[in-house]
Formats: sequence, structure tokens, C-alpha cells
Amino acid sequence: MLTSPAERRQTHAVNVGGVIVGGGAPIVVQSMTNTDTADAEGTARQVAALARAGSEIVRITVDRDESAKAVPLIREKLAKMRVSVPIVGDFHYNGHTLLAENPACAEALDKYRINPGNVGFKDKKDRQFSAIIDLALKHNKPVRIGVNWGSLDQELLTHLMDQNAKSATPKPARSVMHEAIVQSAVLSAERAEELGLGGDRIIISAKVSAVQDLIAVYSMLAERCRYALHLGLTEAGMGSKGIVASSAAMGIVLQAGIGDTIRYSLTPEPGGDRTLEVQAAQELLQTMGLRTFMPIVAACPGCGRTTSTVFQELARDVQTMIRERMPEWRARYPGVEGLNLAVMGCIVNGPGESKHADIGISLPGTGEQPAAPVFIDGRKAMTLRGPNIASEFKTIVEDYIEKRYGTKAAQ
Ligand code: SF4
Repeated sequence: MLTSPAERRQTHAVNVGGVIVGGGAPIVVQSMTNTDTADAEGTARQVAALARAGSEIVRITVDRDESAKAVPLIREKLAKMRVSVPIVGDFHYNGHTLLAENPACAEALDKYRINPGNVGFKDKKDRQFSAIIDLALKHNKPVRIGVNWGSLDQELLTHLMDQNAKSATPKPARSVMHEAIVQSAVLSAERAEELGLGGDRIIISAKVSAVQDLIAVYSMLAERCRYALHLGLTEAGMGSKGIVASSAAMGIVLQAGIGDTIRYSLTPEPGGDRTLEVQAAQELLQTMGLRTFMPIVAACPGCGRTTSTVFQELARDVQTMIRERMPEWRARYPGVEGLNLAVMGCIVNGPGESKHADIGISLPGTGEQPAAPVFIDGRKAMTLRGPNIASEFKTIVEDYIEKRYGTKAAQ
């Protein structure tokens, strides 16, 4: 049993617009826009929002000529917003044509994502795949070979199913499907290498929508190749269902040392915030101890001892304060992302948990004295009372950060 993440699998390191994926580099958080890319203004705004939320690579759809023409404009608009996040173009069916006819788009993108299941069919397949690889070579870009079981190479799947049917010991259809996904990815990557693209320019993904399938497929990929791997559960779904399924699947694979970059493919609520997928990815990596992005707040769930809403409000306020203040804190206070806070609901576990944090507060539960002891570096530092506990606690947090991580602290 793995009680801490296994040593990371050795892979090629791929440079995606200055961000290194694989080769032992920190696991990269990715996201994807859902705007019409032809709307350069709207897409640039969403890319910027995702980047500011912490997405280190952002993928955009490039589905038609108008989208391809918008890509250089998006890049310009982002530069004006001082956003330099690498942008990946997502191509299906017509990528070879769009990239060839729009060299400014091919140049502005930092990586091309192609799907071997729909890059072209029959005799066109290799020609169109080769054309995209040639363009990647010409523009000096890496590619992601992104297989998706919803658009799996049907010729390959049929061939493997036929072979399996003739076998003396046929495997379950699901195992054959896993084999087809893995072969589609690895054979396409090997073909790209034959065409001249180095292994250090290739990232593979093999997305499925069920947790057990993802674990099986990535375990097979890790055994069979050294390409950097992009993890993600496709069509993960909405809200907690999508987050739980993606976290379960990716958590198990990451724990085995597999995966160089991740994305949560969450369906947002209508009008919902697209940056939730970035937050979820960061939280997965941080809670697994794989990366550190921002201070963690330990909060108890509350129970019958917390009959007022004071405790929930404080936990929410502190979490919101961290998210809002983090861009400034990150710039001013190096190392602040490692801070641990605790907001606890009553005396049962409150003082104990608070002592384990850098700063913790134990609010009074029902029937307790209306006093909230604050613990700093494991010691009780003060007791807060009255209606302004929340604002006073937030000031204590800000003061602590200034003292511990500010320029004076570094002198
Ligand atoms: S710390 Fe207190 S309020 Fe929080 S869950 Fe435990 S008993 Fe309930």
C-alpha cells in the first residue's frame, strides 16, 4: 500500500510555452475555455481569469477559420492584460487545414492538441496526422495526442475486437477497449516520432469518463511509454459529482507517481464560474502534498455544538480572504502558500487542532463562554470576544503573515 505518493514516473520533459510538463517538474494545472474562440475579447477575458485563478496552461477550441484568425488577437489582448499563460489549440477533423492556412495562429499557439480518433479517416488519416506533425515541426511546437474514448479510432477498436473474438481466451470487451485507447495513443505518438517530432515534444492523454477505466488506462500507459502524461476524467459532470469522480480517479493515479499535468473537466452551472476547475485541481494537488498553492484552512464540519452560524461564516470569510488576497500575498510574501490556518467550532477539538496550525481559532460552541481563544505557533496568544471576532481574527492573520513572510522578516 502506498502511504505517500510513489516516486514520480520518469518521463520526457516537454516545454509548453515556457512551462515544463514532465521530466520530474511540478505537476501542472491546466484548464479550458468554453467561449467561442472567434470572440477574441470574451475568450481573452476567460483565459485571463483562468490564468489568474492559477491555471498554468489554458486550452482553447480552434474549430473553424474565424477561431483560428482570432488566436493571434487573443494573444495580443492577453499581452495587454499582462497575461503570458501558454495557450493550447484544440483541433478536431480540420486541424491540418486550419494550421496550414493560418500561420499566425500556428505561431501564436504554444501547443497543438490533436485527437487521433478524428484527425481523419481511412487513407486521409495518416496524411492529415502527418500534416499536423509537419506544422508542429515547422513552428517548433509540442503536441498533445489526446485520445478520448468517445471518439476512439473505430478502425483500431474493430481490429482489436476481431482479434479478441478469434482468441482462444478472449478478454472482456472493456479490456479490449482499454487496449485500443492505449494503442491509439502510443502508436500515434510513435508515428509522430517517426515523422521527426522528438519524445520531448509529445504529451499523451487518454481520457475516459469512468474512474476505474481511467486508473486502468493510465496504469497501462505508464508501463508502455515514457511520454509525459496529461490526466483528466472526461465528461466528469457537474458540481460535486464531477469533482469527486475526478479526484478519486486522478488521486489514485497520482499516488502511483503517474501524471505530469491535470485538468478537471467540470460542467459549470449555467453562468457559473469556470475557474472552479482550476481551484479543484490546485486543491487536489495540495491536499495530496504534491504542490503548494495557497494557505490551507482546516475547519471542522460543525455539529450540534455549533447552533449559530458564526462558525460557518468565519470559516467562509477566512477562505474567501485567502483567495482574494493571495495574488498580492504571493508577490509580497514568498512562502506564504505554506501557511496553515484552523477555524474550529468548539472546545472539543478546537484548541487541539488550532495548536497544530500556524494560527487557529476555537470559537465558542453552544453553552460555552462567549470567548474564542486564538493559537499562534502552537501557543495560546489571546482570546477574542464580542461581535468583531471575525474582523479581529483576519487582522491577526494579516499581521502574522507580515511578520513571518514580509521583507522585515527576511532581513
Ligand atoms: S470541533 Fe466541536 S463543533 Fe466542530 S465538529 Fe467537533 S465537536 Fe462539533
